[in-house]
This record gives sequence, C-alpha cells and structure tokens, in this order.
Amino acid sequence: MSEFIYLDHSATTPVDPRVVEAMQPYWTSMFGNPASLHSAGKAAGAAVESARETIARVLNCAPSEIIFTSGGTESDNLALRGVAAAQAARGRGRHIVTTAVEHHAVYDVAQELADHGFDVTFLPVDEYGRVTPEQVAAALRPDTILVSVMYANNEVGTINPISAIGAELRARRIPFHVDAVQAPGLLPLDVAALNVDLLSLSAHKFYGVKGIGLLYVRRAMPLQPQIVGGTQQGHRRAGTEPVALIMGMAKALELAEAERTETVAKLIPLRDDAIRRILAAIPEAALTGHPTERLPGHASFAMRGLNGDSILLDLNEVGIGASGGSACTTGQQEPSHVLVALGVDPDRLMGQMRFVFGKHSTPEQVDKLVYHLTVLAERHRAMLPTLD
Ligand code: PLP
Repeated sequence: MSEFIYLDHSATTPVDPRVVEAMQPYWTSMFGNPASLHSAGKAAGAAVESARETIARVLNCAPSEIIFTSGGTESDNLALRGVAAAQAARGRGRHIVTTAVEHHAVYDVAQELADHGFDVTFLPVDEYGRVTPEQVAAALRPDTILVSVMYANNEVGTINPISAIGAELRARRIPFHVDAVQAPGLLPLDVAALNVDLLSLSAHKFYGVKGIGLLYVRRAMPLQPQIVGGTQQGHRRAGTEPVALIMGMAKALELAEAERTETVAKLIPLRDDAIRRILAAIPEAALTGHPTERLPGHASFAMRGLNGDSILLDLNEVGIGASGGSACTTGQQEPSHVLVALGVDPDRLMGQMRFVFGKHSTPEQVDKLVYHLTVLAERHRAMLPTLD
C-alpha cells in the first residue's frame, strides 16, 4: 500500500525527531526528581527551569507564570475550576461567560460549574463561529468573575479576535482565559499582546508528545489548585514534574514559534487549494467556519445529505486519515454542538468533515484527497434513496 496520508493535524501531530532528541537524556542519565536535594535532583530541577525560560520567551511571560499539566484538558479544567473557586471564595461573584463553540474541555466544565451554582452565559456565535468584543462586553455583569473564549476552533478552524476581547476585559479587570490549544506554530502566542490572563496549550498539537501541556497564569491571579498533594509548582499543581515531557514540550514550542512564518506560508496555499477544489467538485459540500479568518491548515465542510463518518471510513480504506469533528467525540451519533451553534442546516449536520494539513503535507496529497473524496461522494450519493 502507498503511504498513509495523515490529514488530521487538529487531532494530534507526529512527534518531531528534534523533540525526541531533546527528551532523550531525561529518560536515562538525567532521571532525577526535581524536588530532590542531591545532584541528580538539582540537575532535573535546573532542566525544568530552563524549559520554563524557553517557554516564557515564546509566550512573553515570566517563567513562574507557567504551570505544567497533563495536557489541554487539564489546563482548561484548572483554568475554569481554579479561577471560579478562587473568585467565589473571595466573594467576587459567580457569573462566567464563555461561548457555545468551546471544546468539551471548556464547555463541559462550564456546564458542570453551572450545575454547581455558577451562572454561566454561553455566548451565541455568528455563522462562522466567532464572537465579537462588543458581544463579550455586553454580556458582562458586576458579578462576572471569568471569561473563557477559544483562540481557534478545532472543528471549523475559525479564529476569534482574542486581543480585542482581552482589551475590553483588561479595562474592566475581569480574568480572561483562552483555550489556545490549536494555535501554536500557526498563530501568535504573545500573552501580553493578546491581553490574556490564562492560556491553555497541549504539546501533542504542536509536534510534541501526548500527556503534557501547560497553563499560563498571570502573576497574582487567584487560582485554586485542582490537584493537591504536594508543594510542586508553587503549590498550584501537585505531582512530580515529568521532566522528559517538559523538555520535549519546551523544544516543540520553541521550534513551532521559530518556524511559524514558514509553516503558515506553506499551509495556506494547500488549505485554499483543497477548499476551492472540493467545493468545485462536490455539489453537496459547503465550507464550515470563516473563509479567511481560519487556521492556516484547516479545511472543514458540511456535506448536504451525505454521511461524513461513512465517507471518512472509506477514505481511510484508500489510505487517507481525517475526521469529522473533534477527535474526542468521534463515533457519537449526535451532531456537533459547534455546527449546531453555527446554525448549519439540519441536513448537513451529519456530513461533517475536516481535513487539517500539517508541516509535512504536500500538494500531491491534496490531489489525492480531492480525487478520492470526489469519487467517494459520487458513490455515496448514488447509494442514497431517491425521493420519487
Ligand atoms: N482544547 C482544544 C481546542 C482542543 O482541540 C483539544 C484537543 O482536541 C483540547 C482542548 C484538549 O487537549 P488534550 O488532548 O491535550 O487534552
């Protein structure tokens, strides 16, 4: 069989060999626990500090403002639960604002907080999946304690105007969390320019390994730890730091930022070519998400009347890997909450498909995708019951 074509870079990315190399010594010779007082521990501790500094340079923050977590889901949980609990304990209020299109790692936590006495506003989005700074400002109340808006949507690729939303919130001193899991290597990550107070990242989305992420938390932000049982990371997240994973994530983030301009310049033509050709070849296809304000490698569609998952299974048979919506909800028969919030026509909701290119994707892979997808759409169309 010819090469497998991986077009699911929003779900995860292959690990960069330079990341594997950066992690190597920390599996073997540099195995110490950063909390130990002896030389092995000190060496590990120094490594973790150097990783913090590398990451802080990319995010334009202080090294102490970074909390290592197990990934994007934990970072989002820590941000929402941690700020909500700390703010409520200080009597600052119980109102939280988020959007109707967040990843489940934010959406479900917000819903759970609502079940536990917080008042949550899920902002509606426009047809592309965006919220505006004015909309966020209009939702604020004197008891608003947190706003959480995703940087870029994993299902439809749309990018939100984070810096402008952050400016509104900064003026009112309301904590602003951003799920930026889809952003590294593709969008700017300077937390000062973005006006954010908390920002979630996950290494496996930027050519690092799974099981490690981070939450940037602005200095003096009240945050109640969600994992307790140790004094690590300034009491904000207990547990021995996974040194090798941290070293890998720092390397991956450094590379993602250093190569960002080049990656974006490569991805945009692939994405736009795929979108143009799929829309031209398949009459059922409609683009989901914003036509231009979207992640550089992200092409997503909703096919009228066709079943996205069965076409994706057939695509896999010809060696092309892609998904419908979020990787975390694959296999469920419910339509995506994101497409519903965008107001996508009901007869397109089960036709969701997303082709996300990465730094190893090629124009030849776009050719193969367009060819096979067109053939499969034709075949699936022919199998549909006729209405006459
Ligand atoms: N947030 C967004 C926008 C995501 O796309 C994902 C992963 O799909 C997550 C959060 C969860 O990240 P992780 O897989 O590291 O838990």
